[in-house]
Amino acid sequence: MRREALASALRAAYHAAMTQTRKTDVWALALHGGAGPVRDKTYEREEAHMRALLEDGAATLAAGEAALDVVARMVKALEESGLHIAGKGSSPNADGEWELDAALMDGATRRAGAVAALRGFTSPIECARAVMERTPHVLLVGAGAEKFCAAQGMARVDDPHAYYAPASSRLVAPGELAHGTVGAVARDRAGRLAAATSTGGLLRKMPGRVGDCPLIGAGTWADARVAVSCTGQGELFIRANVAADVSARMLYARQSLHAAAAGALADMATLGGDGGLIAVDAEGDIALPFVSEGMKRAWATSAGVRDVRTFR
Ligand code: ASP
Repeated sequence: MRREALASALRAAYHAAMTQTRKTDVWALALHGGAGPVRDKTYEREEAHMRALLEDGAATLAAGEAALDVVARMVKALEESGLHIAGKGSSPNADGEWELDAALMDGATRRAGAVAALRGFTSPIECARAVMERTPHVLLVGAGAEKFCAAQGMARVDDPHAYYAPASSRLVAPGELAHGTVGAVARDRAGRLAAATSTGGLLRKMPGRVGDCPLIGAGTWADARVAVSCTGQGELFIRANVAADVSARMLYARQSLHAAAAGALADMATLGGDGGLIAVDAEGDIALPFVSEGMKRAWATSAGVRDVRTFR
């Protein structure tokens, strides 16, 4: 047998073995609304919105919806809510402009799409998906990303000050959130994993600053083992390559999901950062560690688990 044929037969056998052993009644979903919460504030509206979204995602995953579709839909709804520092709720940069980042990754194929420093579109996650599905590239930034999104007919923000300001003006109060992000990870009934993350980044960031969220491996990652979406000080997550590190720890160090997620986050924390992540593995287990004061998060599984929390 020729080498390519042998390799392809081995791949097919591996895929068949993986698919056979995957339970088709198992699904899992986790959402986050960022690791920026502060103690003296309540997050009832955010939690109520997440609870409703979680029920929606749980129902469609139970009905067989693909993980990639679910995470993209959840993140789009979180962007539109204006309740988190992403999409409509994004905070302005130092020039008073809104530059947004987003990424998603399909674990089954390891296809990925991302946009960074994107101005003028309501749903960066939809733009990221368009990059994945309609270009040969993974990441488009700035003016090039905007040209592409406009050509694809993505929904636009015509008046940024009117669109973002009502949500983000509350950020200037002392002690309010200075950064935030939204994300979703899922395992569907076919055993596929997917991750999506979207952010307005840091309040008053330098124009052109890009965080971890749209960098595949740093803030967003999915493969056959695990799907990860991060939130926190992006610079530190980039330097620790946190999202891909969770998978590497599971693969090379044979760590459990929980040990890998905590270990990757602890490594980031040694660099001086804070934040958290949500992760789901091929078994449908979920880990939601954070080293910040809180992390808005919600999770549901086919085993009947439903939970929404902000602090410990
Ligand atoms: N990670 C995001 C960034 O650095 C911010 C956050 O998650 O709070 O852009």
